[in-house]
Amino acid sequence: MKIKSALCGLSIIALTIGCSAQVKTAQKPNILVILCDDLGYADVGFNGSPDIITPELDKLAKDGTIMTSAYVAHPFCGPSRAALMTGRYTQEIGTPYNLRDDGRVTTSGVPVNETYMSNMLQDAGYYTSAIGKWHLGDNKEFQPNNRGYDDFYGFLGGGHKYFPEKFQPYYEKQKQAGAYPINVYFTPLLHNDKEVHETEYITDAFSREAVRVIKESKKKKKPFFMYLAYNAPHVPLEAKEEDLKVFSNIKDTDRRTYAAMVYAVDRGVGEIVKALKETKQYENTLIVFMSDNGGNFDHGANNYPLKGTKGDTFEGGFRVPMFFHYPNKIAAGTHFDHPVSALDLYPTFAHLAQTNLPKGKIVNGKNIWNDLASNTSPHKDEMIYALRYREGYCDVAARKEDWKIVRMGNEPWQLFNITEDLGEHKDMAGRFPERVKEMVAETQKWTKSHIAPLWVYSQTDAELWESGKLPNYDDTFEVDKLIMSPIEYKEKTEKKK
Ligand code: CA
Repeated sequence: MKIKSALCGLSIIALTIGCSAQVKTAQKPNILVILCDDLGYADVGFNGSPDIITPELDKLAKDGTIMTSAYVAHPFCGPSRAALMTGRYTQEIGTPYNLRDDGRVTTSGVPVNETYMSNMLQDAGYYTSAIGKWHLGDNKEFQPNNRGYDDFYGFLGGGHKYFPEKFQPYYEKQKQAGAYPINVYFTPLLHNDKEVHETEYITDAFSREAVRVIKESKKKKKPFFMYLAYNAPHVPLEAKEEDLKVFSNIKDTDRRTYAAMVYAVDRGVGEIVKALKETKQYENTLIVFMSDNGGNFDHGANNYPLKGTKGDTFEGGFRVPMFFHYPNKIAAGTHFDHPVSALDLYPTFAHLAQTNLPKGKIVNGKNIWNDLASNTSPHKDEMIYALRYREGYCDVAARKEDWKIVRMGNEPWQLFNITEDLGEHKDMAGRFPERVKEMVAETQKWTKSHIAPLWVYSQTDAELWESGKLPNYDDTFEVDKLIMSPIEYKEKTEKKK
């Protein structure tokens, strides 16, 4: 793909003077990140969904560049978002677990010494807003307004009920009964730190608030950065009748409701595009659309042709739908097939905002802007990792160019040519054992940068870390598990017993 560049003049002198003047006075683009929650790879029209229609997203994708190999840094919600905000692998900052959803009693959050992309963009003169799901800490110091966002409208927990006429009465009843904590899926939405009485289906409410902020930003005469984090289509599966009617052909109830929830996001994106055009900000806005992790096939999602589901280190867990749209800057109608990471957004946004990374800031991704222009791999000879702590073991994956190693639980390591074998069907570990060993060794080396989690999700997690059964890297990266087939490995481990 190509990023168009303006011609500045005819002679070399004119070119030099013209371009440098242009760089100095260039308008900083608005940056709009639209994040969906648990959206499957195949659940948008632009990635070939057979049953979900997303006309508004498809129009943007068609006029932009679709990233076919986009990875998030963790296969589930909280850690993926912490990595997105900080530009760092979540294991390196101690945030590899979700925060608990048991009311406003969580005192943990992403460490405040980790400068978010919003802080950087705020300092670079942007008007910043976070809308939707937060899931990065409930206490005051972790809340959006204290993490670089001028405006926040949404909820702090990991999920929410969708219909105010259902969640508000339940909340009031619980409150009157003195219940504490009250399930965060039912608590009132917030505008900054004030509770609000929402009346709309909350996907529509978030779209409405995005339109509001886009209009307000125009008046502020500043570029805007908006982090629009829809909780759709994350459970609970709850959709509007009007959207369900669109998918009357889908017989499976979960799938139908899920489809309607995605469609509600799509309708909202249509409103947002309209507002950008009305306020004459459309041409100067980079829109990045993506999901925070793979779709959950227990709850209506479809990751085809990828193997696996939310939480996995197979592709279906952490390879997500993504596009970039930026008229006249990002070429239209193209696909970018080289691997990119959500970790790349932080340094890429710094470049677009014409600012430096915050002093002392460590980022694990890189500025991919020039590679998008030249259609070259931003991560040549570099690994892109995913690692999840399970109960006593780790799921791990690492991709470098065409190759991917993956280990799920107590199965042996597998190797795939992920370019040719997108569905991870043909394990080539036995054929290329040296490649496996090299990639496993490099992954193990990466784990030296990990720190102990700042919080865990369950009592079991706490006990596992306490007893030294996590991270259990010696076992995870043990060499004799490298190249056996699952059957050989099973026989061997059963013999040991
Ligand atoms: Ca998620």
